[in-house]
Amino acid sequence: MPLSVPTTLVPFNGVSPRLVDQIACDLEGMGYDIRIEQTQIPLTKAFNSRRKQYSADPILNFVRRFSGQRVLGIMFDDIYRYVLDYVNGMADLPGRAALVSTCRLGEEQGDNPLVRKRLLELSLHELGHTFGLEHCPTPRCAMYGGAATNGWLEPVVCYCESCRKALTQKRNASY
Ligand SMILES: [Zn+2]
Ligand SMILES: [Zn+2]
Repeated sequence: MPLSVPTTLVPFNGVSPRLVDQIACDLEGMGYDIRIEQTQIPLTKAFNSRRKQYSADPILNFVRRFSGQRVLGIMFDDIYRYVLDYVNGMADLPGRAALVSTCRLGEEQGDNPLVRKRLLELSLHELGHTFGLEHCPTPRCAMYGGAATNGWLEPVVCYCESCRKALTQKRNASY
C-alpha cells in the first residue's frame, strides 16, 4: 500500500455527522489520510430554485478552495449538471477535487449500512477520477460506468484488478 493520500472531507449542511465519521473511517482504510473541514457556508448561489437542486459545478469549485492533496465535498441535497436530471457525484479528471451527494443513497443516513457502502462506492468512484481513472467495463468495479446510477443493490466497494493497478501507479507517481 502506498503512503496515505492527505484528503480533506467537506461535509455541507444536512449530512449526518455519523455518516461523515463512517466514510472517514472507510476511506482511511483505503489509503486516505482524512481531515474533516466543517463548513456552514450556504450555497445559495448554486441553488436553482426552478429545479430545486444545486448545480454541482460551482460547488466543486468551492470545494477546490480547501487544502489537501485531495478534497471531497459531501452534499446532503440533490445536485445536477447541465441537462442531466441529477448526478450522484462528479470530479476533476484528473485533478484534486471531487463531490458526492448522499441525497439518493437511501433513508436513515448515518444508521443504514447500505447507505454507508453506497457512499463508499461513490467516493471511490469520484476519487478514482481525480487520479485519472476513467469508466471501466467491469461491472464489479467501483469505476464501472453505471456504478453511480445502477440501482445500488449490491454496492461495489473495490476496484477491479486493472483499475487497482492503474490507481496504485498514479498514486505512487504523485509523490
Ligand atoms: Zn464517473
Ligand atoms: Zn475497473
